[in-house]
Amino acid sequence: MTKLSKKMVKAINEQVIAELESSYIYLNIANYYVEKGLCGFGSWFKKQASEEVEHAEKFIDYLHSNGEKVVLADISAPKDKFKDDRSPLLKQIEHEELVTSLIYKLMDLAIEDKDYRTQEMLRWFVSEQAEEEEHSHELLDKYDRYGKDLTALMHLDKELAQRK
Ligand code: MG
Repeated sequence: MTKLSKKMVKAINEQVIAELESSYIYLNIANYYVEKGLCGFGSWFKKQASEEVEHAEKFIDYLHSNGEKVVLADISAPKDKFKDDRSPLLKQIEHEELVTSLIYKLMDLAIEDKDYRTQEMLRWFVSEQAEEEEHSHELLDKYDRYGKDLTALMHLDKELAQRK
């Protein structure tokens, strides 16, 4: 079987940790909202956190199916302290843009390596990131539209609780 480059294996292992760190960042946001009594927002971000674990697992499975070893490393605790209900939503946008840049860097490396198999795998993440960025903007837009009115905010909170 054509081997992945050492550099690629290291980079994918780092991405596993980045995805788990994303999960931790969203769990921190979920906790913030639950503690503020916005349990729908909390539940939405808990699901987001689980999705990030699934992303990590996708990269892990990819390493394994290529006969490579997974090397786990420390996950840093999120340092974010939120001053109001809007700032976690900004943090999400910022964070998803950062993750997109990490996926693009992996793609750059796969192109440099002429590693077509990894490019194919990464294309799923490229589309996923487009969706993640879009959804994070949508959520901020909704908050800006409904966040100031308590009744509207409670409706939005209920809507977010429905996320599957
Ligand atoms: Mg992710």
